[in-house]
Amino acid sequence: GGIADWVARRALRRPGATALVDVATGARHTYAALDARVSARAAALAARGVDVGDRVALLGENSGAYLEWLFGAARIGAVAVPVNHRLAPAEVAHVLGDSGATVLVRSTTFAALAEGAIAALDGPAPAIVELADEPGDGTVDAYPAAGDDPCVIMYTSGTTGVPKGAVLTHDNMLWNAVNMVTAGPGIGSTDVTIAAAPLFHIGALGLSALPLLYAGGTVVVVPSFDPAAFAALMADEGVTTQFLVPAMWAALTRLPSLPPQPSLRWAISGGAPCPVTVIEHFTARGWTFTEGFGMTELSPAALFLDAADVLAHAGSVGRPFMHVDARLVSETGDEVGVGEVGELVLRGPTVFAGYWNRPEATAEVLRDGWFHSGDLGVRDAEGFVTLVDRKKDMIITGGENVYPVEVEQVLHRHPAIADVAVVGIGDATWGETVLAVVVADGELDRDEVIAWTRERIAHFKAPRRVEVVDELPRNATGKLLKRVLRERFAGHAE
Ligand code: ATP
Ligand code: MG
Repeated sequence: GGIADWVARRALRRPGATALVDVATGARHTYAALDARVSARAAALAARGVDVGDRVALLGENSGAYLEWLFGAARIGAVAVPVNHRLAPAEVAHVLGDSGATVLVRSTTFAALAEGAIAALDGPAPAIVELADEPGDGTVDAYPAAGDDPCVIMYTSGTTGVPKGAVLTHDNMLWNAVNMVTAGPGIGSTDVTIAAAPLFHIGALGLSALPLLYAGGTVVVVPSFDPAAFAALMADEGVTTQFLVPAMWAALTRLPSLPPQPSLRWAISGGAPCPVTVIEHFTARGWTFTEGFGMTELSPAALFLDAADVLAHAGSVGRPFMHVDARLVSETGDEVGVGEVGELVLRGPTVFAGYWNRPEATAEVLRDGWFHSGDLGVRDAEGFVTLVDRKKDMIITGGENVYPVEVEQVLHRHPAIADVAVVGIGDATWGETVLAVVVADGELDRDEVIAWTRERIAHFKAPRRVEVVDELPRNATGKLLKRVLRERFAGHAE
C-alpha cells in the first residue's frame, strides 16, 4: 500500500528499468530488483515484530539501502523516521524517544552515535538492525495503507529551534510527486537525478528520490557531497533533473571548471534563499536553473519558478505547484495586496497531518483551514511570489522593518565578501541594529562595506556593524543558523 506500491507497480510494467544506483557500493538495481529488496527489508522488519503504525528510525549516510528500508517500512504500514546523523547523542536520543521508534536501522559508521543515544534514552531501547546487511529472500504481503496513514515522520531542519516531527502521510507523498510530475519541465521515466542532499531532511527525499521513483526514473545515491565528484557524476550518469540546496549549488560555482552537462534539462534550488549571483552563474552557462520554495510540513514542494520565467524573475520562488493553494495574508488573516508583505499560507493535499506529539504546535500553524508557514513574502500582479524572510528573522530597527535576506542578496555582490549572514541584535537606541557577519574573500574594510551597502539600499537597511568570521554556522543542508549568530554577537559591541 501507499508509496511502497509505486515500486511494485513500476516493477510490473518496466521490470528492467534502472531504479537505483548506489555509488558507494557500485550496485545498480532494476525496478524488479528494488521491489524484491524492499519486500525483503519489510520481511526483516516484520520478523523483528514491527507492526502497522510502528516507528522505524533510520540513521545512516545516504545509500540505496536507506531507501530500501524506508520503502520496506512503508510496505508493512510502519512509519519511517529519518534521523539526522549530525546530531549529538542526546539529540538523537530525543528523536528516538519523541518518535517512540521500536527499531533503529543504523549504518556501522554511526554505531557509536546510536550507542550513545540509546545510553541517553529514558524509555525502552529500540532493537538495532544493520542498515547495510544484504537483504534476504523474505517476502511479505503488502499492507493496504490508506492515503491518510502516516508514511514518514520527518523532523524539521531545526533552523529556528528544536526540530519538530512532521507527520507526512502516503497521500502527502503522492501529491508531492504528482506536483513534481506536473511542474513546468516535469519529471518522467527517462529522468535521472542524484540524491545528494541528506535523505534525513525532506529535500533529497521529497524532491529527488520519491518523485523520481514514482515517475519510474533513476535515482543515483551518493553517501556525501563533494562538489568536484558530484559534478563529474552528473555528467557520467547523464543527470537530467537535479535538486540541491543553495549552499551546494554555491559550492559548484567555486569549482575551477564544470564538466558540460548535455543531458541536464533543469536544475532547481530550494530550502533556503539562493543568492541571485548563483542563479546568474548557471544561467550564464546556458542551464535552466530555477528556484522553488518548500517546507518539511509541505512534503515539501510548494512553489516554483517556471523555466521560462527564470531570467525575468530571478530571486522569485514563482507560483504554486499544480495541487497547492497559496496566499499571502496579514496578521488578521486577510489577503494582502500586490506588493504588500504578508505571511505565506498554504492549503492542499501536501499539507502535513500535524507535528508528532505536539498538538499545541500543530494548532498554531494549522488555522482557519490554512497552514501558516512563518515565511513572509510579496507577490506581483502576475502572482510571482518573492520571499522576503522568515517572520522570526525580520529586524525592526528604529521602527523600520528590515528583511535580512534582501540585505544579504546585496552583500553577496561585494567583491571582498565570500559568504554573509545578516541578523538583528538588540540595541538600546534602535531597538535592534543590523549586523552583517561576513566571511572575507581577501582584504575587507568594514567601514567600506557599510558605505558600499548604503550606496545600494536604504541606509536603515545597511549594516551598522560588520563582524568577520572564518565560517558561518550552518546545518546539514547549509542553512544559516542565525540563532547561533544572534547569541554569539548579542551585546558584544566593539
Ligand atoms: P525549523 O522549522 O526546525 O526551524 P526549517 O524551517 O529550516 O527548520 P525546513 O522545513 O527544512 O526546516 O525548511 C523550510 C524553510 O526553509 C521555509 O520555511 C523557508 O524559511 C526556507 N526556504 C525554503 N525554500 C526557500 C527558498 N527558495 N528561499 C528562501 N527560503 C526558503
Ligand atoms: Mg520551519
